[in-house]
Amino acid sequence: MMCAITAKKLNSDLDITIFEKNDRVGKKILASGNGRCNIINATFDETNYHTGNPLFVQKALEHFSFATFKKFCFDIGLVLDVKEDGKCYPLSNEARSVVTLFSKALSEQGVQVCLEHDVGQIRHEKGVFFVDDEPFDTLVISSGLGAASQLGSSEDGLKFARSFGHDIAPTFPALVGLELANVSKRLFGVKTSAKVSLYVDGSLKEEAFDDILFTNYGVSGFAILDISTAASYALSLGSSAYIEIDLLPQFDRNRLFTLLKKVDGDLTGILPAKLIDVVQIDNIKQSVHNIQHLRFDVSATHGFDHAEASGGGVLTSQINPYTMESQKINNLYFTGEVLDVVGQRGGYNFAFAWASGYNAGKSLAGNR
Ligand SMILES: Cc1cc2nc3c(=O)[nH]c(=O)nc-3n(C[C@H](O)[C@H](O)[C@H](O)COP(=O)(O)OP(=O)(O)OC[C@H]3O[C@@H](n4cnc5c(N)ncnc54)[C@H](O)[C@@H]3O)c2cc1C
Repeated sequence: MMCAITAKKLNSDLDITIFEKNDRVGKKILASGNGRCNIINATFDETNYHTGNPLFVQKALEHFSFATFKKFCFDIGLVLDVKEDGKCYPLSNEARSVVTLFSKALSEQGVQVCLEHDVGQIRHEKGVFFVDDEPFDTLVISSGLGAASQLGSSEDGLKFARSFGHDIAPTFPALVGLELANVSKRLFGVKTSAKVSLYVDGSLKEEAFDDILFTNYGVSGFAILDISTAASYALSLGSSAYIEIDLLPQFDRNRLFTLLKKVDGDLTGILPAKLIDVVQIDNIKQSVHNIQHLRFDVSATHGFDHAEASGGGVLTSQINPYTMESQKINNLYFTGEVLDVVGQRGGYNFAFAWASGYNAGKSLAGNR
């Protein structure tokens, strides 16, 4: 949608058709940010992404800033609300206003939208792309990847990319809950604010501080989502991963020891009851250790259907970052999640989708 609107604004002579398998565009936008749509972050750069090629992301973001996006949104009637932590939402606080205004802009710009059209086959003959037999001289693949297939997501884009000779980095779920090997079912339903450390093959990989929710399969919550992409990537490579939770990160070991001494080792007023069952023992020193190093082995992620995004995808070394055009086939473009770029939580996945769509749109219009 970003690509089509940008291209038509710059060159109204273009004929653009969007094929969408769902009965409406932007279904994932509607589901995003718990229905509020964390539409972008006020600051973003390549360090906010997991990718095999950070330089590609750096270049792709070079000509697309938050100000660029804000102006684009303002022009289509969408006003943004930037929160203190940089996360940005529509001022309406409703994801559906984003979809409504993007849809309106598509129609005002004369972009054709073919809904409920699940593209099954793309052929390329003598420079012409045949999308289910309909001919086009340019093709943009913006089909996302497999996360949340209930919203229409698919890995079809990878199938098409392969048919054009593109190489693919193996995909893995990102921003996803983690299944734990040795978690007690008694913890189910406990929510706490804590620090989580991810260890891969025994070495500390990432840390996050935020909510953690114990579920019937393992753990979820913002802190877990934040370390989940690195955990999932590690598991996909066959590495081992475990997490250590510090339930009271505001206390260092000595202060926690003093506190527990004062209450005779009784954690009733300090931690949720279900957690006490797991960490409290007669020895105060050992209780302190358990509170600060609650360790679980990560057996798997909760899977693509429960993930907010997918890592892996079309290798970016074969794509021009400034235009998103394939370096293998002229007039073939890729944007968004189908590429081997996945963002952190906080609006970064949309940021890359908008940036890459914008770059491709400018290129389509002839403003390379
Ligand atoms: C529950 C949830 C919440 C999220 N919240 C946020 C958030 O708050 N902030 C953020 O930055 N990111 C969020 N994300 C991630 C973000 O939605 C995606 O990264 C982003 O939508 C990717 O954009 P895209 O255009 O590349 O792909 P998509 O948005 O996935 O769009 C691809 C489209 O292609 C269609 N399609 C696929 N295959 C075919 C085919 N063969 N024929 C026709 N159509 C096809 C799909 O139906 C889909 O509409 C969230 C994701 C989920 C699942």
